[in-house]
Parts: sequence; C-alpha cells; structure tokens
Amino acid sequence: MRDPQVALVYLSDRRVAYSSIAFHMIRGYLAEARVPHAVYFLEEGTLTSEKPVPPPSKVPVWLVSLPYEVLYADLVKALDASGVPPLREKRRGSPLVVAGGPAVTANPLPLFDIVDAFLIGELEPVFDDLLEAFQAGSPQARLQEIAGVRGVLTPALPRKVRRVYQADLDDSWYPVEQRVPRGVEPVWGRSYMLETTRGCARMCRFCMEGVIFRPKRDRSYARLKELLEEGVEASGVGKVSFYSLAFFDSPHAEKILAYAVERGLEVSVPSLRAETITRERARLISMGGQRTITIAPETGSCRLGRAINKCIGVEGTLRAVEEALEGGIRNVKLYLIVGFPGETEEDLRETLYLVGTVGKLIARSGGTLKVSINPFIPKPATPLQWAPLPDRKRVAEASARIAREARMHGGRASTYDPKWAIAQAVLSRGDEKLGRAIIAWAHRGARLGTFHRALREAGVEISEYTGGWPPDYTPPWHNYIEHPYASLRNLRLEYEAYLRIAESR
Ligand code: SF4
Repeated sequence: MRDPQVALVYLSDRRVAYSSIAFHMIRGYLAEARVPHAVYFLEEGTLTSEKPVPPPSKVPVWLVSLPYEVLYADLVKALDASGVPPLREKRRGSPLVVAGGPAVTANPLPLFDIVDAFLIGELEPVFDDLLEAFQAGSPQARLQEIAGVRGVLTPALPRKVRRVYQADLDDSWYPVEQRVPRGVEPVWGRSYMLETTRGCARMCRFCMEGVIFRPKRDRSYARLKELLEEGVEASGVGKVSFYSLAFFDSPHAEKILAYAVERGLEVSVPSLRAETITRERARLISMGGQRTITIAPETGSCRLGRAINKCIGVEGTLRAVEEALEGGIRNVKLYLIVGFPGETEEDLRETLYLVGTVGKLIARSGGTLKVSINPFIPKPATPLQWAPLPDRKRVAEASARIAREARMHGGRASTYDPKWAIAQAVLSRGDEKLGRAIIAWAHRGARLGTFHRALREAGVEISEYTGGWPPDYTPPWHNYIEHPYASLRNLRLEYEAYLRIAESR
C-alpha cells in the first residue's frame, strides 16, 4: 500500500460523516480514481481513523468539507490535534489544506490565514484537475498547480474566481456505494442518499443555498432510476433518502418517489415547498413509511413573505397541511424565521396565528406539530447580505411567544440561541481579520461563552459584522468571487426590492 497522498479530514464523528452525501462523494471518488488516501474523523478532540494510517500531519494534502461556519473552529482543533500549525504561513504548504463546501463558497475570507486553497463551487467538474495538481513534487509546486485549477482561490496567490458548477448532473459521477461500517448508526438511520436536483429556482432572498447552487439542475428520470437501483444494491439498504433543496420542484420527483414505494423501499423526503404538497404526494410519502413532513413557510405574514420572495402565508400552509393529513401524514414540522428587517408586531401576530391554526388542525387529527424557530441571519452572497442581524432580545421574546403558542396547541417548539446567531453572523460575514480570532476561539474550546472574549482579544469588533450595510457597500467576498446567475448588481436590486416591501406599512 502506497503512502496516502490525500487525507479526507471529516470535522465531525463518523455517525455524522456517514450521513453526509459530500463525505460519500469525496471518499468514493478518491477510491474510484485509485488515489492513495486516508480518512480521518474528528472525534472527542482527536483525529481517528478506521484503519491503520499514518499520522495526518504526514499526509501532503488535506481535503476538508465546510458546510457550516461553526466548523471553522473544528478545523483549527483538527490541525492542533495533529500537531500541525493552524496558521497557513507557518505550515508552508505542508500539509496543504484544501477546503470546499457551501460556507466557504459563499465567503472564504475568515479562513484566509488558515486554509491554503478554497474550491469555490462544486467538486465534480474539477476533481480530476485537483487530483493531478496534488501530484506536484514539492509543497510550493503543488500550491502553484492548485492555484491554476478552475474555481480555486488561494490566499497566497489571490485572484477573482468564478464559481464552478456541474452543468449536467446526468453526466456526473455519483457515489452509489454508500456502505456504512458495522457499529456505526448514521444520524437519520441507514439509507441510500439520492440527489434528485441541485440548486433551486425559487430565489428566496435570504437563502444562501438558493444562490450558491444556481442554476437549478435536475437528474433525468432514467438516470434517477438507474442510480436508485444501483445504489440500494451497492449500499445494502432498503431505504432511499431523497436529497434536494425543493424536492417536488424536480419534474421527476413524484415519479421516482412512486417507483421507490412500488418497489417496496422505505423513503424519506427533505423539507418541502408548501405549494407543491398534494394529497397524492403525501400518500406516497406515508406509504414509504415517513409520517412527518417538514414545511418552511418562514413567516405567517404575507407582506413579509412577499419581501423575502417566499409568499406562503397562513392560507398556503394550511392548504398544504390539510392535504398532507388527508394523504396519511401524521406530524408536521414548521420552520420559522423571526427578525427579518422591517418585521412588525402585526407580522409577528400573523405568524402566531399561523402556528395556532396549524396547531389546532394537527391536534384534531391526533398528530404532533413541531416548530423550529430561528433568528434571521444575514448570509453572504444573498440579497439580504446587507441587512443587520436582528436585536437579540427582540428575537428571544418573539421566539418565546411563538413557542408558547405552539405548546398551547399541544405542539413542541425549539428555538435557536440568539447568541449563537451572533457567532454565526460574524463567521458568515467576516473578513480576513477573523482568522486569528477563530484560532483563539478554538483554543478557548470554541464554546459560545468564549466567543466574545476570543474575538476581543484578537482585536475584532463584533458589531462590524452584525450591523446593516448600505446597499452601495461592496461586501469583501465580492472582490474574490463571481457567482453565475447572481451578479452583485442583481443582488443589490433584489435587496432594494426587499426594502421597498419590508419598509412599507
Ligand atoms: S428557501 Fe428553499 S425554496 Fe427558497 S431558495 Fe432556498 S431552497 Fe429554494
């Protein structure tokens, strides 16, 4: 066995890793391309592996997936645990840390002092080019080669890059073998994850995934059927988890769902757009063994719904819930967001009314309502990237009122700590100044209670990243990244359209 050239460093434990399609994708492709590699998991503060492998510090290239910003501190922990300096300049390219995923595709700047190269966009179109660049003889030559790959941004040799994406999903390699070792139980159980669609055409103005995965692309029915057959066989499971941003927006979603159910498989579908739920679709989902559906109306207010470009409201949500219950679904989970800029007491009352009305309907049918209440967090690359993070106390009060309303009707509610929202907003909208602060925070355990102190000590002013910005301000990530189908000009026009509605009374 040759020494590994590449380390896939997964920044969570193996239960989470085996629940991630990105993990299966990267690991599967490395195996398919016969690249000598090792896989490490971050478990209880150390990097572990399933096989005897060299220490991660000895592997020349690390591949890291960063879907969320809070993982930035975990990357520092992984480097520390391996005796590798987290500061890029101290490592001198050995090992070379290459990161990708939604969080850094939207804004890689907070990790400029830590990561050597960022893949801005999707892996499939450039994976072979990256693997070839990894072959270069010295760390310096490797960095030079990687810097020349399409979609790669290297802080040492910075240039503006255009996000790369896989134009035709039918043409792309897919990890059909998603085997999970004995003794590991993935977070949502054992199933084969099948991505039907990538991207979303709905253009909700707060949604980062909706921008960074543009344009929407669908797999054909023939390809989905083929992948389903191969996947359940190769993965040795009897359940398929469909994976996409807005499942029934795929022209083939209902057909492939029906096919899976007829074939006797258990199914799981992701969060659904309310207007796409019908009795027949709900019937298929419940026949496939799923008893809960998730809908994200975000707000009960039509005015705010129009502002965020997701106008579902009470009527739309009620219709969807009625259809779902009649189709055999028992439980409903609602995702709500509080603190959109311009949100009024009237908007909040409409959300309370939504929760109360849906709660009564579900209680009458004997099911359970769960409500997940989250604060609005301005995300980079979205039309709302210029908006301020809402006031912490206001969010806490509004969340508590909605949670009370849900409980009054027998529902359950979970709220997101507004203090974590501050950390997430800073890490999302941060710039190069944040790198050393992230290292300091990781050294303090990366707990919520140490975030403010670590940033203060690193000379970072939190309010710089949580306040609103005027629309003519250019957020720094736009100096490095160009998003197809989402120019800075268009995002600005969308923000102005938001403000026109949100500020009207
Ligand atoms: S919130 Fe959902 S429907 Fe809207 S753009 Fe994002 S993924 Fe699409």
